[in-house]
Amino acid sequence: MKCNSCNSERIVQGRIFNQTDYISPAAYFRPNGLRAFSFFDINVRIKNVFHACLDCGYLWAKADQAKVKKIIKIKGSEGAKAKLNL
Ligand SMILES: [Zn+2]
Repeated sequence: MKCNSCNSERIVQGRIFNQTDYISPAAYFRPNGLRAFSFFDINVRIKNVFHACLDCGYLWAKADQAKVKKIIKIKGSEGAKAKLNL
């Protein structure tokens, strides 16, 4: 595995926490660009598995792209949908 930002191979796997003493909370991704007052079905639960680059700090994870796409198609602003060709 290589860093998408700097191409380094010095990558470490870890989890995201909201509080330092909290154990493995569920993690969710909510895309930007949603219409105002979009409150339901706008989060995609993600496996709390992230990777960080030791050389540049780039941090990433993987989301269910079909669910993210569906949220933007249904709840996205016209601008967001146009930018993403949805
Ligand atoms: Zn990097």
